[in-house]
Amino acid sequence: MTDTTQYVVGHQQPDTDAICSAIAYAHLKQEQEHDAVPVRCGEINPETRFVLDRFDVDDPAMLDDASGKQIVLVDHNEYSQTAPGMEDAEVVEIIDHHRVGDVETGQPIHCRIEPIGSTSTLVTKLYRENDVDIPEHIAGLMLSGLLSDTVVLRSPTTTSTDERIAQDLADIIGVDVEEYGRELLQQKSKLGEKTPREMVTGDFKEYDMGERTVGIGQVETVTPEQVLEQKEAVIAAMQELREERGYEFLTLLVTDLLAEDTEAFFVGNHRDTFEQALDTTVEDAQASLPGVMSRKKQVVPPLEDRMT
Ligand code: MG
Ligand code: MG
Ligand code: MG
Repeated sequence: MTDTTQYVVGHQQPDTDAICSAIAYAHLKQEQEHDAVPVRCGEINPETRFVLDRFDVDDPAMLDDASGKQIVLVDHNEYSQTAPGMEDAEVVEIIDHHRVGDVETGQPIHCRIEPIGSTSTLVTKLYRENDVDIPEHIAGLMLSGLLSDTVVLRSPTTTSTDERIAQDLADIIGVDVEEYGRELLQQKSKLGEKTPREMVTGDFKEYDMGERTVGIGQVETVTPEQVLEQKEAVIAAMQELREERGYEFLTLLVTDLLAEDTEAFFVGNHRDTFEQALDTTVEDAQASLPGVMSRKKQVVPPLEDRMT
C-alpha cells in the first residue's frame, strides 16, 4: 500500500511557529478533505509546551524518517534544517516565510512564501482565502506562532498584515494581544534551568554559505544577563559544538527583547567577515549589535552576502 498521507512538518529544533503552523495547516488541509497529519522533527521547547497545554492540543508525532513520504514543509525550505530522509521524500507543498532555500522537487508544487512575520500569519491568510472557519484552539496556536516569531509584533520582520491578523486571531479567542504576548515572552525567558550547551542549541540553525556551513544560535530573553554572566561556559559550549559539527564559525545572538538589542558571542574563522557584515567589532569573543532582533532579516543576509 502506498502511503498517501501528507505529513506537515516544520524545521528541526522547532520553535512555536514551526509546531503551531504545522498543526494549523494540517487542520486546514483536513477541512479540505485531504489526508494530512502534523508531525515534528525535534523536541517541543518550553514555550511551545505552554501553548499546547494552554489550548489543550496534543503533541504532533515525531517524524524520524521522511523518505518515501509525501511532505508539506512549513516554516522552512532548506535540507539542512529539515527531517532526516527529506532528499528521498516527495515534497508536495511549501508554506513559509524564509528565504528560498535548496529544496528540489520532481513535479510542480504548491508553494507559498511571503516576507511576513510568521508562517502562522500565512496559514491564517490561507484559512481566510479558502473560507474555512478557524476554531478557537487553532486560533490560539496561530496567534502564539505569530507573536513568538515577531516578539509580540516588535521584530523588524513584523508587517501590517501580521498586526491585522494578530488582532483577528486574538478576537476569536478573546484575549488581549499585548497581555497574551507578555505571557508568552515569559515562557521564552525561562533560562534558569538551562545548561550553557542548551542555551546555544535551544534555537539553533545551520546555514550553508558557499562552500561552508555556519551555525547561528539565538536566545531571546528579557533577562540577557542570565546568559552573559556565564560567558566563559557558554563560549566553551560553542567551541565544543563547532568542533563536533565542523562549522566555519558559530555565533550565539543574545537578544534583549525589551531593549531590542543583541550581544553576540563568536567563535571560529572569518571574524573579519563577521565584523564587516554586521558593522561591529569582536572583542573577547563578543560583539554588540544594537537594534538587532532578527537572525533571519538582520544577521543572515549580510553574512551570506560576504561569505558567498
Ligand atoms: Mg521557525
Ligand atoms: Mg517562523
Ligand atoms: Mg523563530
